[in-house]
Amino acid sequence: MAIHEVTVEDVLQRCARCGSGNRLSLEALEVGVARREDIDDGLVQLPPCPACRSTEFLIRPAESEPEHPAPGSFGHLHRLLVGHVHAKLVERGRLHSVLNPKGGGAGKVAVRPLSQEARERWFPQGLRIEMPPDEQPRAPEESS
Ligand SMILES: [Zn+2]
Repeated sequence: MAIHEVTVEDVLQRCARCGSGNRLSLEALEVGVARREDIDDGLVQLPPCPACRSTEFLIRPAESEPEHPAPGSFGHLHRLLVGHVHAKLVERGRLHSVLNPKGGGAGKVAVRPLSQEARERWFPQGLRIEMPPDEQPRAPEESS
């Protein structure tokens, strides 16, 4: 599960299974994944990879999550990007219908947007993660 770049309109995802890069429009993504009767508002399901059909989730960092142990690492930057994408989707009202019964659900979803300070420090060239080719194939596993 990894995203490498976020623009105003889309997200560049690299499939963890087959390694192909997919551009996903933010308009095609939605916050909230059904788990039995509950909806987890910290998850964003990505559409199936066109090449291998595997599906991946983005997991918003928990509010109680401690500072990342390796600032500047792929895992750290990735976490920041995921928080940013999640917050953007909430801001746009891209919510699962159960979370957004009358269009006013966005206020109830906890978000972890990227701060201006973090953006300037970690993404001065834009919201993307540059990785040497030999480090690209696998992103570190993240748990919620
Ligand atoms: Zn794939």
